[in-house]
Amino acid sequence: MEFSLDQNLSRKLIGQIEDIFPERIPSLPLIHHDCEECFELQNAFAGKSWKEISSELLKENFSKLSLFSEEAFHAFIPAYLIHSIKSLDGDDFVSEFTAYAFLPDELVDEDEGHRNWWVLKLSFFTDEQFNSILGYLDLVEATDEYFDRDLMKRGRQGLLKLREESKDQS
Ligand SMILES: [Zn+2]
Repeated sequence: MEFSLDQNLSRKLIGQIEDIFPERIPSLPLIHHDCEECFELQNAFAGKSWKEISSELLKENFSKLSLFSEEAFHAFIPAYLIHSIKSLDGDDFVSEFTAYAFLPDELVDEDEGHRNWWVLKLSFFTDEQFNSILGYLDLVEATDEYFDRDLMKRGRQGLLKLREESKDQS
């Protein structure tokens, strides 16, 4: 099976993300947890909108999406998505971890706190924004040959379920 990045599709998706995610500076605190790692993350991203986040900063923080508050996650995700789409056919950790950030694990069924965190996180997304996330996951699936297909399928089902819950609550 050949995997290659559809340049037109990825350009279109980037344009869409730029249009539908407003440039916004999330309120403090950007994190839920008080530890050195989280404070460092907050210091690096504080006062910035997603358009002001450099590729360097994203690469340094490729695995930190789960440490952000729900609001900060939503505010910064466009930067991660766009960087991820641009580097999908390279070996860049931002791509891999950004896709994983939208694939819930089994913990959502076992831990209510974890589940609530997901539901709240997804409630920040408009339908249009959420659809761009699904488009992004499609692109990852079509492009990244290293991605575990089963995990992706299960993750997507979990994501759609949590999205429905987030809409029931709002
Ligand atoms: Zn922490």
